[in-house]
Amino acid sequence: MGIIVKSLSKTYGSFVALHDINLDIAEGELIALLGPSGSGKTTLLRIIGGMEVSDSGSVLLDNENQANKNMRDRHIGFVFQNYALFRHMTVFENVAFGLQVRSHKLRPSKKEIRSRVIELLKLVQLEGLEKRYPSQLSGGQRQRVALARALAIKPKVLLLDEPFGALDAKVRQELRRWLRKLHHELNITTIFVTHDQEEALEVADRIVVMNRGKIEQAGTAEDIYHKPAGAFVYRFLGQVNHIQGYIRDGSVHVGPLTLKTAVPESVNGQNVDVFVRPHAVGIASECSTPDMIAARVSHMYQAGSRIKVELEAEGIQKTIEAEVTEEYQRQIGLSRNQHVYITFRKAKLFGPDGKPIDYEASYESSSLQAKEEARIPQIS
Ligand code: ADP
Ligand code: MG
Repeated sequence: MGIIVKSLSKTYGSFVALHDINLDIAEGELIALLGPSGSGKTTLLRIIGGMEVSDSGSVLLDNENQANKNMRDRHIGFVFQNYALFRHMTVFENVAFGLQVRSHKLRPSKKEIRSRVIELLKLVQLEGLEKRYPSQLSGGQRQRVALARALAIKPKVLLLDEPFGALDAKVRQELRRWLRKLHHELNITTIFVTHDQEEALEVADRIVVMNRGKIEQAGTAEDIYHKPAGAFVYRFLGQVNHIQGYIRDGSVHVGPLTLKTAVPESVNGQNVDVFVRPHAVGIASECSTPDMIAARVSHMYQAGSRIKVELEAEGIQKTIEAEVTEEYQRQIGLSRNQHVYITFRKAKLFGPDGKPIDYEASYESSSLQAKEEARIPQIS
């Protein structure tokens, strides 16, 4: 079922929770609503699901206005972060619940319910656990029961509100891979709410980034990552160094550092927000090109297969976060308190209006680290 959200607004007293939300979701699409806490994700989901009423605007499911329909008639399945299963009911009874409570006329036979529940438990990979109680399950298993319960009514839309939020990182990762696969099999239109950008990038066909009750950008993971509509989106999608810069004579000046590539005439004389991802900070033990500044390693730690490096750079007020491969760290013998030289191999610029300035500094060729890293075969 396709979903169309038109000029939806919602206020709580004088607080604007949603402001003029417009969104088209195609049949079978898996959409992630991504945004910080308080950005309006749950409110939007609840209005789509009919659990909350908007002040203005409309929600169309398969082109039908839902204003006068109650929740049950919308054919919507819900899973919440802490959707406690019924504790006194077995897994079987929990999954069967949505079917059992139907009026006599609409209720499937006992036998039909049984086969549907068994089929669903197989789908969520919990076969054989139907007699267990929720307390006898792991967190990940419980959320899969919740999903089976949501699927029991054969929903046309699935609304998942931070369904894996309470689980630990490893289980979460397994479940999102599993959800992706499940969605591929069932193709139910799904809205997945999360505040975790990695989760959104991994799971969804399309991501809707929300901030303060508004949609900042909607697009594929690639679009959003590489062509952010604004500084908020770029920042929210991953760790980034944010430094104030200034444009003079067609160059970008960041502290004592000059990024030499030409920028449009129109932005000359402007202050800009300069964003540099940690992996785009070049580090070298010697000053090999003029576009480098002196810095000191203030902290270093292992993060997965890479090394995170924090640097205090001359003339820049903020701690710079960088990231290098283990090989490169060993090669230049990078260690705490070491004096090094840094440069920004790539940067994204945003004007005072928060909009991107179409320009990318590229220092790949002049950076020692880029050369060295390119020389080292990456095993992954
Ligand atoms: P999110 O799910 O993105 O964290 P919510 O949609 O839950 O955000 O909330 C958006 C904002 O609306 C929050 O600031 C929250 O405090 C406010 N809000 C949500 N529900 C209510 C309510 N029933 N009454 C008053 N304020 C609310
Ligand atoms: Mg929420």
